[in-house]
Amino acid sequence: MKITRVLVYQVDLPLHEGSYKWSGGKSVEVFDSTVVRVETDEGVVGHGEVCPLGPAYLPAYAAGAREGVTAIAPHIIGQDPTDIMPLNRLMESVLKGHPYAKSAIDIACWDILGQVAGQPVCKLLGGRYGDDFPLYRAISQESPEAMAGKVAGYREEGYRKFQLKVGADPETDIERIHAVAALMQKGDVLIADANTGWLKHQAMRVVGAVRDVDVYIEQPCLTYEECLSIRRHTDRPFVLDECIDGIAMLNRGHADQAMDVVNIKISKFGGLTYAKLARDLCVSLGIAVTIEDSWGGDITTAAIAHLAHSTPPEFLFTSTDFNSYVTVSTAEGAPQRDGGNMAASREPGLGIQPRMNVLGDPHWVSE
Ligand code: MG
Repeated sequence: MKITRVLVYQVDLPLHEGSYKWSGGKSVEVFDSTVVRVETDEGVVGHGEVCPLGPAYLPAYAAGAREGVTAIAPHIIGQDPTDIMPLNRLMESVLKGHPYAKSAIDIACWDILGQVAGQPVCKLLGGRYGDDFPLYRAISQESPEAMAGKVAGYREEGYRKFQLKVGADPETDIERIHAVAALMQKGDVLIADANTGWLKHQAMRVVGAVRDVDVYIEQPCLTYEECLSIRRHTDRPFVLDECIDGIAMLNRGHADQAMDVVNIKISKFGGLTYAKLARDLCVSLGIAVTIEDSWGGDITTAAIAHLAHSTPPEFLFTSTDFNSYVTVSTAEGAPQRDGGNMAASREPGLGIQPRMNVLGDPHWVSE
């Protein structure tokens, strides 16, 4: 089997809530997502998606994702998409770094591999555990009262895990955590995600003020070293996200006992191939994982579901369903949230069929 053509689509994904706000006053109203279609000489077609959380979150931006794919695509024409690792090594040899630009291509190749094998991608990523897996709901940064109201509403819808967007001024963040913690019931999970937003002295005030609250602290500060310092001053369970951007940092974090949970975003690691490697390494080291991506629609959500559903349940801290946050559906067959849980498709590959009328004319087509 050979890749014959690569097409790139741009799609806008507005939010049901109107906007999504997190640390440092950053916000997004319409996500700029990129869908990649990989065609083969045997008629099998695969799809992948990459959607940065705006241009100021990780070192990734939407136009860069598309430009990266156009730089890589001419080199993978003629290659076998089911040779996943040789293909990843080839991508690295023609474009160093830029993992997010490779992610959608890698996901599309897993989609093809699954279709060729007649198996859902989760089977190829290790196998399906149980009927479904739990989701968290991200709570956009607002006043403490408004965030508590959102948590109450999403709790009614079935979510039991809540990730508060904090990382603003410490006094208000302490109020946010306390306001929501008061609503938590047995079995609920509360995460305060600062998304790198606190300086160390601010993070120290927050972790000190919530030492008696059953709350996880996620990525309090910008750098790994700052986060490690806070980690060593708090006994709250600790999640690292933005600074764990590859296997080397994962190993370093483990050596330093810097975290209890790692947030694995598929595009941060460069696709399902390396996200699976990170997931499997975490499992072998006794570290729990959040499985998600920076953002996305139906195709990203399908990829997340396959990786999450193939993660041992005791290691899967939580996962997410981005397609329920956005107003546009880009694919049929994508997993749909059922209360606070979701399941990967049982169809071969990702199990999705893109809505070509929604994707529109391609942004770019290979020669
Ligand atoms: Mg996070």
